[in-house]
Amino acid sequence: MAGWEYSKFQNVPCAAEDCRHQGKGETMNRDANCIFCKIIDKKIPSKIVHEDDVAIAFEDVNPQAPVHLLIVPKKHMPEIHSITVADREIIGHLFFVARSIAAQKKLDHGYRMVINNGRDAGQTVFHVHLHLLSGRAFHWPPG
Ligand code: AMP
Repeated sequence: MAGWEYSKFQNVPCAAEDCRHQGKGETMNRDANCIFCKIIDKKIPSKIVHEDDVAIAFEDVNPQAPVHLLIVPKKHMPEIHSITVADREIIGHLFFVARSIAAQKKLDHGYRMVINNGRDAGQTVFHVHLHLLSGRAFHWPPG
């Protein structure tokens, strides 16, 4: 992808200096049919804003706000009920990545973090991910 230097985001140990995740060096499992696994493996392009050994964050292809990023664990886990106790560090790490990106992008007026889990919640990609939305005011309750 022209204009995006993947290499500068690779091998970044962590999103935040005080996050003590333990994913370093792990081989994260992938699903060959999963679009986010393909993005993680750079088999399809994306606009990456952060990458470390546990997670990747990239721009949503169909943004619902001026800032709409997806924070995705490199380990393939289809839904929230797929996660195990062993995944606690990984799941917690997603929040540290969100916090780090929010600070870098100066999202001082607020941001919304969303996980759509399951069909009725509107999940369309079955690889757990955190939406990070900002740049406009959001309604509550959500639609
Ligand atoms: P969800 O509906 O919560 O499962 O969210 C999936 C999100 O992935 C949607 O907001 C899509 O716009 C987004 N998406 C799907 N394919 C891609 C892609 N190739 N690159 C970036 N975002 C994508």
